[in-house]
Amino acid sequence: MIIVLKPNVSEQQIEEFSRYFGEHSIRVNKWVGDQSTVLGLLGDTSAVDVDFIQQQEFVERVQRVSKPYKKGSREFHPTDTVVDLGHGCCIGGDNFSVIAGPCSVESEEQITLLARDVKQAGATFLRGGAFKPRTSPYAFQGMRAEGLELLRHARKETGLPIVTEIMSAAHLILFEDVDVIQVGARNMQNFELLKELGKLDKPILLKRGLSNTIEEWLMSAEYIMAGGNEKVILCERGIRTFETMTRNTLDLAAIPLLKELTHLPVVVDPSHATGKSSLVAPMCAAALAAGADGLIIEVHNDPPRAMCDGAQSLTPAQFTEVMEKLKALAPAFDKTLNIFK
Ligand code: PEP
Ligand code: MN
Repeated sequence: MIIVLKPNVSEQQIEEFSRYFGEHSIRVNKWVGDQSTVLGLLGDTSAVDVDFIQQQEFVERVQRVSKPYKKGSREFHPTDTVVDLGHGCCIGGDNFSVIAGPCSVESEEQITLLARDVKQAGATFLRGGAFKPRTSPYAFQGMRAEGLELLRHARKETGLPIVTEIMSAAHLILFEDVDVIQVGARNMQNFELLKELGKLDKPILLKRGLSNTIEEWLMSAEYIMAGGNEKVILCERGIRTFETMTRNTLDLAAIPLLKELTHLPVVVDPSHATGKSSLVAPMCAAALAAGADGLIIEVHNDPPRAMCDGAQSLTPAQFTEVMEKLKALAPAFDKTLNIFK
């Protein structure tokens, strides 16, 4: 971190300021120029508050040189993180993994049939919302604890690990045997929830917030990792822009950029990113080509009658077609589509 001081700074102010950093085990190098004095901070500055420094009356400006996220950065951990749940169900590295299932769990028959269908087509994880974050309090809120029970039943029938969204730390007790906990876009900056998830030894699928920057997203991942849980999977699900013809705008460039910045796996959600089932297949191929480690896709047996997000859901037949294309394309991008063993 570089701090440029104002020309009128006194020696005593510099000394006191340097002592403050010394107390935090940070070394300070000083360069005195004709116009200004510059301090260079050496050591782990991830806990240093940039705003606090900027507020000092004798500070002209401050600039970070190293990244504010540490555990998630490629510099800290150069090799790819691979999250492995056994049976070939892994995300990261050379794997291309597909998570599929309905937006919401609606009944035992629905989730069990869909679990069989998506497994047959090649998915290695089953998704399904039990607790649903809906814009309207009058809309279907999900089957809640009963929905989790039905997901467990579908897992027992197929062996597929389950991925489902948590909305409150108060529900953690219900999520003990969930294989991958999803943090939805609306909760990406629910820091108290992230801290609780940091205490678990369980993969967390962290969706990008509706209007969050890549750095904010990586800082949210850092919250989970700082607590000791390093099994974080990032999910790009589209961001809010001025465009209204698609539900969100899929930030495809975020994928290769994240691959440079972090070792964490990156999956793409083409369903919420577009809001239109006709756009899902091309965005799946684009995500693979851009370097994603996998996809999370909404599939419904009867999309027009879905309780939630039918317009963006693929039928099992459409999903099977997408999987066939991905199987053929994956080797061209140095990826191998996961196979459930
Ligand atoms: C979902 O996956 O069903 C969901 C609600 O997604 P998001 O948080 O990305 O809107
Ligand atoms: Mn949905």
